[in-house]
Amino acid sequence: PQIMPGLAKKMDPIPDHGEKSYRGSAKLAGRKALVTGGDSGIGRAVAIAFAREGADVAISYLPEEEVDAKDVIAVIEAAGRKAMALPGDVRDEPWCRDLVEKAVSALGGLDILVINAGRQQYREKIEELTTDDFDKTMKTNLYALHWIAQAAVPHLQAGASIITTASIQAYQPSAILLDYATTKAGIVAYSKALAKQLIKRGIRVNVVAPGPVWTALQPSGGQPDEKVQQFGKDSDFGRPGQPVELAPVYVLLASQEASFINGEVYGVTGGKGVA
Ligand code: NAD
Repeated sequence: PQIMPGLAKKMDPIPDHGEKSYRGSAKLAGRKALVTGGDSGIGRAVAIAFAREGADVAISYLPEEEVDAKDVIAVIEAAGRKAMALPGDVRDEPWCRDLVEKAVSALGGLDILVINAGRQQYREKIEELTTDDFDKTMKTNLYALHWIAQAAVPHLQAGASIITTASIQAYQPSAILLDYATTKAGIVAYSKALAKQLIKRGIRVNVVAPGPVWTALQPSGGQPDEKVQQFGKDSDFGRPGQPVELAPVYVLLASQEASFINGEVYGVTGGKGVA
């Protein structure tokens, strides 16, 4: 079964996505950020935290799966920052290039790039994972990373920061996530290689590898079924993380305070670990 889009509306237990509880301290004052997958889940929390820290923020998302884009834009603007919604499909290479150009012209430049949009699907058996399934996951999670990073690099100055969202699945793959785990391991390798290349231009690249986080990506629509009950139970906290609990790591990696952090993978897994 396909992970259903838009489930966050029903299942999202996050009362404020960080806009009330996350108080910024101008760590990103005057910076300009693009966050892919910024209408929902982790990307939403990151986009809002960035605005709270003083950044102007463009968000992208898949229009047919839109969760909360208008709301995110309103929250960014309420923080006194410039906001821009850029709907489109990252599986489309020309659109990825267009996305970067639109973000740059809307914000007047780009300093922070969070490549976070992702998809997953559960396939119990190898026989059920079609080439089309595999292709969609590869394009969304991995090819788009290359297309967006490649388009963005010419716009980035020394001091810029690229952050990618991988997953604990890169290190502890589940049997039913063959394609997804493969792309997430690819994101780690790609990001580390890019970090080595771009640091020569003063641009840092780092990876966040979340463990279980309660977002639309997860199954069951928040219904009290067994899968939902079990999700995140094996973390040290006996529960999944909430998107706002990931945001401070992205803020750190985006900020100038991370000036000696490059090519690193930050697990935010509730203690499940990525090593
Ligand atoms: P989410 O469903 O809330 O957000 C996914 C985002 O990706 C949405 O904004 C969606 O519009 C966007 N997206 C998906 N396909 C796209 C496409 N073809 N074109 C453009 N945008 C597209 O889920 P989330 O959990 O916040 O996911 C964010 C990232 O975190 C993903 O890369 C995911 O793999 C990763 N991650 C999530 C978890 C978790 O437990 N939720 C764990 C590890 C890693």
